[in-house]
Amino acid sequence: MEMTMEEDSFEDDIVFCPTCRLILYPTDDSNKFFLLSCRACNHEVRLDYEFTWEKHKVNKKSILPPVRKQNAGTCCPNAVLTSLDARLNFNRALMNKGPAEMLSLDHLLEQYSEEEERKTGLKYDGSKGYKLRETAHIIRKKGVLHEHDYASKNRQGKSWCRARHYPQKNASFTEICNKILKGNVLFTSIPVTEQWSMLKAGDMYMANRDLVITEYYDNKPEESWHAIVLVGFGQEGGVEYFRFQNSYGTRFCENGIGIVRAREICHIERFEPYYVNDN
Ligand SMILES: [Zn+2]
Ligand SMILES: [Zn+2]
Repeated sequence: MEMTMEEDSFEDDIVFCPTCRLILYPTDDSNKFFLLSCRACNHEVRLDYEFTWEKHKVNKKSILPPVRKQNAGTCCPNAVLTSLDARLNFNRALMNKGPAEMLSLDHLLEQYSEEEERKTGLKYDGSKGYKLRETAHIIRKKGVLHEHDYASKNRQGKSWCRARHYPQKNASFTEICNKILKGNVLFTSIPVTEQWSMLKAGDMYMANRDLVITEYYDNKPEESWHAIVLVGFGQEGGVEYFRFQNSYGTRFCENGIGIVRAREICHIERFEPYYVNDN
């Protein structure tokens, strides 16, 4: 027996085909979130939805680390560490443990400078910024201490967090969403446009590559990109978006978290942390 709509028993969470008036069912494709279709005429309806680690918990434990507050040029190391912090928290929450202490940005930047000085023979003051390639290299080969351990005088026997690094170009929206659902807070970078500095709570950042601001370093033009981490995703009125944790402190947008249109975001970096003792 087919169920048909009855005016007096209409329920809010049931969607009906406008043509056949039959109930719409989720499609068999599990990668298509909240896509309903009519079994008679294949009419499709997309429902608004949202998933975010701001609200979702694992064993009643939140996995998002505190929002970092960066100095100029350090968005990349900040985003990598936030991604690692969140993954460590996720792994701990699975074992019913509370969040880890944050990883030390100072320790990462110190190693970055040492690495640059080794290469160039010159003192590195950070004025040329901190790039993903070099940051990821340190995370893969050396690792970073947690804040307390870095600050303590005796670092012997302390755990360094290293990570395997999985970059992915051309990831689809659903691929990225599935990785987020599996407890990943994903590094990505977005083009900086005129809209960026005006962004406020509730706005959707369009992340339009064609409008990227070009800045000049040593008279050389360079596109302006900014590193963030993706903490959630959703769809509203047919527009797919991500929620991202920024590193501008909690006064940025909504407690430090903003919304970015998903359309042009396809390049993600995933980090899988593990510990080593003594380095
Ligand atoms: Zn139909
Ligand atoms: Zn930046």
